[in-house]
Amino acid sequence: MKTILVDNPATGEVIGEVPQLDRAEAEKQLHAARAAQPAWEALGLRERAKIVFRFAQLVADRAEDIAILATRENGKPAQEALLVEAFATVDLANYFASRVEEILAPRAVPMHMFHHRRSYVHYRPRGVVFVISPWNAPMFTPAGESIMALLAGNAVLLKPASYTPLSALEFGKLMHEAGLPEDVLQVCTTSGGVAGEMVSAGVNYVNFTGSTAVGRALSETCGKLLIPCSMELGGKAPALVLEDADVEQAANAITWGAFNNAGQVCASVERVYAHARVYDALLEALVTRTKALRVGDPTSRETDIGAITDPNAMAHYAKLVGEVRARGGRVLTGGEALQRPGRFFAPTVVADVDETFAIARDEIFGPLVPVMRVNDDEEAIRRANDSQYGLSAYVYSKHAEHARSVAERIEAGSVTINESVFVYGLPETPWSGVKQSGVGLVHSDEGLRHLCVAYHVNEDRIVRPKNNPLVWYPYSETSYNRIRDSVGLADRRFGKRMESLMDLVRSF
Ligand code: NAP
Repeated sequence: MKTILVDNPATGEVIGEVPQLDRAEAEKQLHAARAAQPAWEALGLRERAKIVFRFAQLVADRAEDIAILATRENGKPAQEALLVEAFATVDLANYFASRVEEILAPRAVPMHMFHHRRSYVHYRPRGVVFVISPWNAPMFTPAGESIMALLAGNAVLLKPASYTPLSALEFGKLMHEAGLPEDVLQVCTTSGGVAGEMVSAGVNYVNFTGSTAVGRALSETCGKLLIPCSMELGGKAPALVLEDADVEQAANAITWGAFNNAGQVCASVERVYAHARVYDALLEALVTRTKALRVGDPTSRETDIGAITDPNAMAHYAKLVGEVRARGGRVLTGGEALQRPGRFFAPTVVADVDETFAIARDEIFGPLVPVMRVNDDEEAIRRANDSQYGLSAYVYSKHAEHARSVAERIEAGSVTINESVFVYGLPETPWSGVKQSGVGLVHSDEGLRHLCVAYHVNEDRIVRPKNNPLVWYPYSETSYNRIRDSVGLADRRFGKRMESLMDLVRSF
């Protein structure tokens, strides 16, 4: 059997080996998941929630073990792994397990016209949800998306990233220990190629988190087959530092926002637009803070920046820096790989660039950030929006109204004021991108409902007569005239509606 070797990006040593399932084996998992789904749905919301509560408790009890596993396969510092992989996972699981009955309760739809009828919407699972995850939050993303799908009554086929399958396998183990029936969740460690083929193998929904290029290809297949999906894709988050910003606060937030998880976050600060009045002070503060960051062994509690997960990324960063140097931009700190075992890149701040440089235009997904000067809010907003991406953005200002007036003009799924990055971890808020950052949404009440089909039922409110003389057969001159008179009932003018009503009453 083929296998996937998992390496520790901080040391280069192999720390795990998992099966690389072929298409036939992945299909077997899909069939098993489908067969297990009806009984899982029949269990009901409350019983499913109890299992998720137990899972959350297991994660809370073993938080440090879970964090260290993520650190070893992904390279992020232990503290970040605790925060994202343990804390955020426990919180999301408990939040949705507590609220699922309320969120998925049938909803009445008030009738505005046909008051003798009543409508409601009720939610049923989609069937098998295919969750495809990236490697940058190796427990939180696969677990979070799968838990929401499972709570809604779906079975889940989970394809984790090949760099980090161990945390996802641990998630599967913990769910089963918490009482999840064996086949309902299948962790499918396979190649991206096989995952692409599995989209057309009979799944009912695709929940993809990853790059724009892969998301676009999967969307094409979903479109052809009319499979509903959510695509959470790449980003190029701008940070707008307005002239009335607290520079120290902005510098601290941006330093963390650009460099946590070594910048390998879809919501990372990837470009800074600083007002000319604060530009110099901000740049100096950013460079000072960046120089103080400690890069190295991610298992150490004193390390700020860990390793680079994707081996191909090192050449990508070098190329971005190469263009800055070649075209007259300034590399103020960092700019190169560290000479030590494992994959480490020095946190990098560059200036004197614009969007014609790849570093200011394309997704970096690493520990590099360009800082650009703007003359006013209009220029900052225009340049922030002039991007193919629209996932996250950040605005810094001491005045709430000023900050909001700018935030509301930014084309990004989430705009955060005077903070950075953390909103992806909030289960109650919608997470989505516009433009090339994706379609659909995850998290929030709406995100949970997206994992269901909303079925509409319309029924009698009063005892029905045997016929509907206004609409049903046979048609006649009289019925035609009645419908003509009824048009006025939909008119906005009160007088017209009354006139129609009188005509109708008279006609009977
Ligand atoms: P990726 O290369 O697109 O991979 C994501 C997942 O898709 C992996 O499990 C990968 O499997 C799988 N995959 C690869 N090719 C596939 C194909 N043809 N069909 C189906 N699945 C396929 O992305 P990544 O490098 O892991 O993650 C980085 C990207 O994710 C960045 O662009 C980042 O911005 C984005 N991201 C977005 C969000 C968000 O919420 N918007 C969150 C996190 C990350 P293999 O690992 O086996 O190749």
